[in-house]
Amino acid sequence: MNHTKSSQLFAEAKKYIPGGVNSPVRAFKSVGCDPVFITHASGSQVYDSDGNSYIDYVQSWGPMILGHAHPKVIEAICKTAAEGTSFGAPTHLETQLAQMVCEAYPNIEKIRMVSSGTEATMSAIRLARGYTGRDKIIKFDGCYHGHADSLLVKAGSGAATFGVPTSPGVPADFAKHTLTANYNDLDEVKQMVAANKDQIAGIILEPVAGNMGCVAPRAGFLEGLRELCTQEGILLIIDEVMTGFRLAYGGAQERLGVRGDLVCLGKIIGGGMPVGAFGGKQEVMDQLSPGGGIYQAGTLSGNPLAMSAGIATLTLLKEEGFYEQIEEKSAYLEKGLRDAASRTAHKTCLQRVGGMFCTYFQEGPVSNFADAARSDVETFGRFFRAMLDKGIYLAPSQFEAGFMSIAHTRENLDRTIEAAQEAFSSL
Ligand code: PMP
Repeated sequence: MNHTKSSQLFAEAKKYIPGGVNSPVRAFKSVGCDPVFITHASGSQVYDSDGNSYIDYVQSWGPMILGHAHPKVIEAICKTAAEGTSFGAPTHLETQLAQMVCEAYPNIEKIRMVSSGTEATMSAIRLARGYTGRDKIIKFDGCYHGHADSLLVKAGSGAATFGVPTSPGVPADFAKHTLTANYNDLDEVKQMVAANKDQIAGIILEPVAGNMGCVAPRAGFLEGLRELCTQEGILLIIDEVMTGFRLAYGGAQERLGVRGDLVCLGKIIGGGMPVGAFGGKQEVMDQLSPGGGIYQAGTLSGNPLAMSAGIATLTLLKEEGFYEQIEEKSAYLEKGLRDAASRTAHKTCLQRVGGMFCTYFQEGPVSNFADAARSDVETFGRFFRAMLDKGIYLAPSQFEAGFMSIAHTRENLDRTIEAAQEAFSSL
């Protein structure tokens, strides 16, 4: 497959944009090739500047669960755009989307819209600190919650991909308020809480971790955290930026039956437009400005284009059988990929929860970041390049999840499995 034009565009981008990209993992640095520059996308397919097409499992890192450029979503965006793109004043669209989210999540009584997942988690942390009057938070090694200072400590995603999970530029004075525990290790969290009695404001986690591949919580882990938080007056902050409206209409919390005090959302609720949100109990949310003293704001927050895209998307997700179809397609792909992988001499381990999956190049199982880090990233890179060459666009990192959309056809899945068979045997 020819990527000449993409490589030229990348060289040009590098002159003006750090690393040539506006978000690090896009640079393909850890997989040993130049990124492809996308021109357009439709359904399950993305198209690059050299005229190649790919079956896309990145899906803009999760938001495009309906597939790219869904006609109903585009229509909603265009209709709203024709009436003005931003007012910095309230619109009824914001209430409509807020109501839809509150109806989907019984533990979200009130919600505030922001423009990214980073803002959602950053604001939720501030709210937890303001509400409890405590400074410390606990996060899990390998979970990624965006790039706010207090959350870029032992972070997953790009931070893990590039080996800088704790970023230079985060003052030690800030980082010291973030305690990190191993995912799926409840005892460690209990000890940490006991050693920091009445000092922990919140425990934040991905309910299914997608920023170190795809790691499910062990039985009892989320339930144990819930109980601990209730006992100790700590707010449990469930970051559903990735899993929200993906693992079920009510996200991982509906699927797994555990409810957070605060919930962070993003990606799908913006239908591919820049959006984040955080919500929870009225009593906590009402501490936010202007009703309460905890300040949080945004010029473009609740942007009408993003709200319309979100409303159109959620409306379609509500249709009967939507999540069953995502499950069915994902299970079909999982089986095909497992069969394909069984023919390679390399050790692999496929983990999947609903429409999120990851093939680790190692024996597995992977239940925390230390496990994930044992993967053979060099072989993953070769697999990634082989798949790209066959028109399959996977997440360009061993530490990211792949995503299924409703637009993926059986033919797409069969082509993917066939490509994987060839790619695995070429390693
Ligand atoms: N939380 C989670 C769980 C995420 O996966 C991400 C992004 N991948 C974020 C927060 C940050 O969102 P954003 O990139 O929109 O700032």
